[in-house]
Amino acid sequence: MAKRMPHNVRMGEASLPPPSQTRKASVIPIAEQRHRALLPRVPTHTHPANGLLADALGRPLRDLRISVTDRCNFRCSYCMPKEVFDRDYAFLPQTSLLSFEEITRLARVFASHGVKKIRLTGGEPTLRKHLDVLVGMLAELRGADGEPLDLTLTTNGSLLTKKAKALAEAGLKRITVSLDALDDAIFQRMNDVEFPVADVLAGIDAALAAGLSPVKVNMVVKRGTNDGEILPMARWFREHYGGAVVLRFIEYMDVGETNGWRMDHVLPSRELIERIGSVYPLQPISAQTDGETAERWRYADGGGEIGVISSVTQAFCRDCNRARLSTEGKLYLCLFATQGHDLRHLLREATASDEQIGGALADIWTQRSDRYSELRSAGVAPTAERKVEMHYIGG
Ligand code: SAM
Ligand code: SF4
Ligand code: SF4
Repeated sequence: MAKRMPHNVRMGEASLPPPSQTRKASVIPIAEQRHRALLPRVPTHTHPANGLLADALGRPLRDLRISVTDRCNFRCSYCMPKEVFDRDYAFLPQTSLLSFEEITRLARVFASHGVKKIRLTGGEPTLRKHLDVLVGMLAELRGADGEPLDLTLTTNGSLLTKKAKALAEAGLKRITVSLDALDDAIFQRMNDVEFPVADVLAGIDAALAAGLSPVKVNMVVKRGTNDGEILPMARWFREHYGGAVVLRFIEYMDVGETNGWRMDHVLPSRELIERIGSVYPLQPISAQTDGETAERWRYADGGGEIGVISSVTQAFCRDCNRARLSTEGKLYLCLFATQGHDLRHLLREATASDEQIGGALADIWTQRSDRYSELRSAGVAPTAERKVEMHYIGG
């Protein structure tokens, strides 16, 4: 049964409809995974902050995704189905959230140990009040090599017309906007709060006008739901934006436990490339950075590029250099993790120094051996335990 927590303070959800009484989708009730976490030891030794950490499989630490809120104004069926995340669902109370100072402090330690890129995410990150202030604080940080961090944000785009300019002025460099269809009926069925396509497109325009270019647009493809939108999306972004927008298609993933994921809902990227390539011929291009999740393709006629993220059919664990920090400061080493490491405990109860936090991070990262997608592809059941939800640890 779904475990219900007491009601808490909530924000940014005034437009949510009441819990559905009638719809019964193939949705699995949530189990409370958020409180499962290991308490990191305060180390007696320090670890040199030289950016050279490597995990048990030799993978460096380069990319940190920070969830700044577990709340969202959408109810995408593949991420936060309304049947589970309804008005009775208890989101985290304000006191559980990491403050901007706590986030920045942890980010500084991560940067000193190798992180070069930070992605703010959620939930819907733009719901977090004064997000531009956090962006400004993170923009001041430097990596172990002394260079500014690559600072970016993933958003559903709903608030960008209001917030893109302030975010860019605060130091945001790039942005990714999620959009699953151009057809309003399909998009609204997927976001499940009747949010119109036109408002997301206006958000993309606002981001471009603010100088956040190129904008990446993420489309999660679910076979039988929005795969008919692949070509219209490709055509729209080619014809209206050329190279200023890079459309990326994401295979529908078995993240969390609530979306009723099935393999036959996954449209393999190979098939997607064939579908687009038969209309607009495509050529492969090489990756720009190590650990890049998207495989890149360019239109042969010069109409820009697209990307495919094949997390299900072509696992890329071998190069995975990503860590995730949840809204309340738990560190997850894999998108499909079943528990995190409570770094907030180090900040608040253990009052650890930056060096001690760095030492604890080094202890955790050097033992990392996660490779969920590879194991799934190899037909090995990667875990029998329940996985944590994506909106909580950040996409
Ligand atoms: N709310 C923001 C958004 O939608 O862009 C940021 C958080 S969302 C969890 C981050 C990304 O994860 C989005 O691009 C979303 O489409 C993607 N996502 C969520 N659930 C997914 C799933 N089951 N499979 C593949 N991608 C998913
Ligand atoms: Fe919200 Fe993003 Fe999840 Fe959709 S994918 S429910 S917009 S967090
Ligand atoms: Fe990284 Fe885990 Fe995804 Fe593999 S399954 S690429 S280890 S997040």
